[in-house]
Amino acid sequence: MLYLGEQNTALVNYSKKAICFLSIRIHGRKKARSLGYSCNDSDCVGCGSIKKADIRLGLEKHFLNLFTNERMSLIITSKPDKLLDIIKEVRREYAQPSKKEDTKFNEQCKKLFVLSGYNNWFQNGVNNYRLAEDLNIHSCSYCNREYTITYRPDGHKGKAMVPQFDHWFPKKEYPLLALSFYNLIPSCATCNGIKSSIEMNLDDHMHPYIDSDISSSYSFDFDPNSVDELRVEFLDNRSDGKGIRTLKELNLPMIYHGHSDKELKDLYDLRYKYSDNYLQALLDNTFGALPISNEEKYKLIFGIELEEKNYHKRIMSKFKSDIVKKLLYIKD
Ligand SMILES: [Zn+2]
Ligand SMILES: [Zn+2]
Repeated sequence: MLYLGEQNTALVNYSKKAICFLSIRIHGRKKARSLGYSCNDSDCVGCGSIKKADIRLGLEKHFLNLFTNERMSLIITSKPDKLLDIIKEVRREYAQPSKKEDTKFNEQCKKLFVLSGYNNWFQNGVNNYRLAEDLNIHSCSYCNREYTITYRPDGHKGKAMVPQFDHWFPKKEYPLLALSFYNLIPSCATCNGIKSSIEMNLDDHMHPYIDSDISSSYSFDFDPNSVDELRVEFLDNRSDGKGIRTLKELNLPMIYHGHSDKELKDLYDLRYKYSDNYLQALLDNTFGALPISNEEKYKLIFGIELEEKNYHKRIMSKFKSDIVKKLLYIKD
């Protein structure tokens, strides 16, 4: 699991567009003397092209009136720990005057934030790419096992690739948060699929935008006494078990078990199979007296990044650096 950092540029660029889109869907575009929304940026593509939500979308006026500009901004930009309070507040107001059925609230949210917002606006091959490019995270935030590189050819025509975005608070249960910046986690298809049905909470689980120690909350490990059946295991580095609990929910033990007889075995063999400690020899002797940093050595020998903040740039960085560390530490 990877910490995604502050990501201020991505937040500013994304939230401006998302707020323009949603506010115009709700209030319409401001023209000369009419009411309506405008971000007052004359170059804003969103404000110039989006249409007010058609009545056929089935949105109630009462529902649309809940979203002041200030509130919309909070929904899009608030940190994860504030998002559930916002839902509670909007929900309460929705139910208030006419004793609206609470169940209808999520239906209305789904129409605006998921179907119109996430499915049509965000996943349109432009906005998801822009967010991914700004985030610049090269492997899955959850597993660090698959690359999630973003590529668009010049002119944006032809084949392209972009990460999936997992909703940390699932969009099925929390449709109001379908476009919230801190709820969109760049991830691989496998992890997004696993995570889609799982409801996490901030008390029991770690969040890639909150927990800066998410990578160091656990270590990859193995039992050196069971060499005939090497198996990737996990060590808990926190007293509250939050890291281990999170990676179990993400199914990482099963996913990484698939690497037991591959990368784990390869590294183990480097340490034991051919010489006393070929692993150490590799690190000590490969580059002779060349002034090469440890980070550079690990990149060239193992194909990984050694620094936590760079883990995302090479797949399996966390896994391999933990295992190599353990193998070098074992003395016999
Ligand atoms: Zn605008
Ligand atoms: Zn993944």
